[in-house]
Amino acid sequence: SSTASPAPTGRTSNESEFARARKVISGGVNSPVRAFGSVGGAPRFLVSASGPYVTDVEGREYVDLVASWGPAILGHAHPEVVTAVQDAAALGLSFGATTPAETELAELVVRRLGGPRASGGLIDELRLVSTGTEATMTAIRLARGFTGRPLLVKFAGHYHGHSDGLLAAAGSGVATFGLPASAGVPEPIAEQTLVLPYNDPEAVRAAFAAHPGRIAAVIVEAAAANMGVVAPDPGYNAALASIAHEHGALLILDEVLTGFRVAPDGYWGLQKTSSAEPAYDVDLVTFGKVIGGGMPVAAVGGRSDVLEHLAPNGPVYQAGTLSGNPLAVAAGLATLRLADQETYARLDRMSGTLRAAVSEALTAAGVAHTVQSAGNLFSVLFAPEPARDYEAVQAQETFRFPPFFHAMLDRGVALPPSVYEAWFVTAAHDDRAVTRILDALPHAARAAAE
Ligand code: PLP
Repeated sequence: SSTASPAPTGRTSNESEFARARKVISGGVNSPVRAFGSVGGAPRFLVSASGPYVTDVEGREYVDLVASWGPAILGHAHPEVVTAVQDAAALGLSFGATTPAETELAELVVRRLGGPRASGGLIDELRLVSTGTEATMTAIRLARGFTGRPLLVKFAGHYHGHSDGLLAAAGSGVATFGLPASAGVPEPIAEQTLVLPYNDPEAVRAAFAAHPGRIAAVIVEAAAANMGVVAPDPGYNAALASIAHEHGALLILDEVLTGFRVAPDGYWGLQKTSSAEPAYDVDLVTFGKVIGGGMPVAAVGGRSDVLEHLAPNGPVYQAGTLSGNPLAVAAGLATLRLADQETYARLDRMSGTLRAAVSEALTAAGVAHTVQSAGNLFSVLFAPEPARDYEAVQAQETFRFPPFFHAMLDRGVALPPSVYEAWFVTAAHDDRAVTRILDALPHAARAAAE
């Protein structure tokens, strides 16, 4: 008979759930970092989430600093977002056809990014997809189709999803598990990606000089946040744009993680208003996470003359049964409408409070560290000096993270289970949640010191 899965009975445990999952789900997880591989122990099997909290099968509640890896800027299960999804669900789960809500989301995004480009905005138009991986994959195909060139430049430690050509020296789980690349990517495909050190414009100039007329695009995280957080040096993104354009290539700015999170208009928006940052021109931009408010929406947007090359108008193919799914679009629309200036002000304040508290606790425990940040995204680097690239990030004392992580978890605070991931705050983190984090930090810092 078909019944809903049972509510936690108290008899189940994270360990037993993990053992059960491993029998029928590869590695027991549907995305690698969830497995707690680099921190050890059984992952927490979650049954519900509300505001800044998540609850596991054992009935334990944690203050969540994962926020679904970014999307939940309003906190989990915001009532207005849930209602929007419920209302959409009652009208049909998926049509595989055009809907006015998709246009509304696209209009809202273009407007929010100051567009169209002719009026100083970031994008003219976009195509909705379901995951960040699809967004970057499409952006690259589009850049190749538009320029007629084969090669792609990416940066070591940057993660753009799991399509074949983007797994070379990637961040996130690829970094967490220390993989140089992924098995299963044929050499001829891997060879089309040139991996360069981050924050080193000379390396980019040298790559263009070595491969004249062959590089289609440079793809870069707007601010790197999948090797821990490593902000671009002042002027770096602008330098990438001018080098790429000088050589007839496109710049793809990956805002999947930063977009609609670090500011209403993303990291690009932060840089646009920064006096340290020259203006720069982006050809294609990718979004994910917050744009779907916890449901599967992502997007590739940019110059209309480039986007025109997508089917049905042009020869570059891209499609999706669930693209623009009505429930997902409803969640994205509700989330973006609710995320106002006050939301971002709260995220910034929360981030500032936690950054200071982490640093204070680690200093008191005598642990050499640097809190690295980009907007409200931050992470702890277990090294005394800031890191500007993947090599420096990898040289930190990574062994300090697992005890730190588990000391936090034992005290009811869930951090991302890898030293290579950013910490995500939400606008729902309230005094009670913050107090629990502040109470846990000195214990975690002492655990990291051992
Ligand atoms: N690009 C960046 C910068 C990301 O952080 C991620 C995911 O973490 C992706 C792309 C891939 O997105 P998704 O996991 O939705 O496929």
